[in-house]
Amino acid sequence: MIVVMRTGASERELAGVLAALAERGLTPHVSRGVERTVIGVLGPAGPSGVPGALPAITPDLGDHLEGLDGVESVLPVSKPYKLASREFHPEPTVVPVPSPTGAIAVGGQDVVMMAGPCTVESEEQLLAAARAAHASGARILRGGAYKPSTSPYGFRGMGATGLKLLARARAATGLAVVTEVMTPADVALVGEYADIFQIGARNMQNYYLLDEVGRAGKPVLLKRGLAATIEEWLLAAEYILAQGNPHVMLCERGIRTFERATRNTVDINAVPLVKQLSHLPVIVDPSQGTGKRSLVGAVALAAVAAGADGLIVEIHPHPDAALKDGAQSLALEQYAELVPRLRAVATAVGRGFETSKVTRSSTEKTTAP
Ligand code: PEP
Ligand code: MN
Repeated sequence: MIVVMRTGASERELAGVLAALAERGLTPHVSRGVERTVIGVLGPAGPSGVPGALPAITPDLGDHLEGLDGVESVLPVSKPYKLASREFHPEPTVVPVPSPTGAIAVGGQDVVMMAGPCTVESEEQLLAAARAAHASGARILRGGAYKPSTSPYGFRGMGATGLKLLARARAATGLAVVTEVMTPADVALVGEYADIFQIGARNMQNYYLLDEVGRAGKPVLLKRGLAATIEEWLLAAEYILAQGNPHVMLCERGIRTFERATRNTVDINAVPLVKQLSHLPVIVDPSQGTGKRSLVGAVALAAVAAGADGLIVEIHPHPDAALKDGAQSLALEQYAELVPRLRAVATAVGRGFETSKVTRSSTEKTTAP
């Protein structure tokens, strides 16, 4: 249920509504907008133990709340996901990602770049990619230490050694780190190194893993499943939010369609649609999305034009020698050439573009190089 307060409702009126909700054991989530305040209300916990399983609204309660001072209307949430929905939380969520140079705001005014190799392969490879990412204005380094592999014979990552290399690259460049966690048992270890947990497409519906990163409290990049509908994807985000972790970023990474000429089909529709349905930031991965280096730049530009809050791009110092996903990895100089074009599109659609030249906090950054 959502309680919409009147424009200009006072703090006292808001407190009155919150008290009425508390009396009934309901959980409020207050979203303060420029125009008006909306209170998303979760019902009591059901058998799952998380608040919201049971309906919050009864006709009596709706009438009572509507009669309180400052209340404009009381409405049911029409979607099966609640915390993730725009109805529940009309203001966009800005996820603060910790980094050695200050928090990075994802989902705010600026488009944020994440770049790095698909997989951590060696210190030399990772540092070369990290330095190139940093030099071109990325704020966040990607790199898998634990890799899902379609074939059991494929490279499955360096594991804990890879995490340590990511920590070194973080210290050397000041970039934040996003890296995949594949199993609930690894969440504690990966959390010692990651600034953002990546949940891979293949694990989007691994509900125990979603619960665990929800409890861990760090920002989460939730990839869309290979064959997941937008509703299933947002319900997966709901799992993380329901554990009390509000810092979820949704990542469109292409879905499986009948088309085999590309590895996946980037659902560009999903970018503006998800931003209408949800308040969570949307990131696009044009690398997994296309599977082809020659297409990555065009799709990245399209994603920014469509309103993406950030991109996650695979880059490699020697893409043809990459142990994983070389065909879709940009060479470092290709990435450097792409970034000014992304910045131009960001400007054209009224967005800023995060640079790595932040010294203290994301609000005190210098202008783009
Ligand atoms: C990746 O980012 O390298 C990856 C494996 O992504 P996805 O889970 O989207 O396939
Ligand atoms: Mn990859």
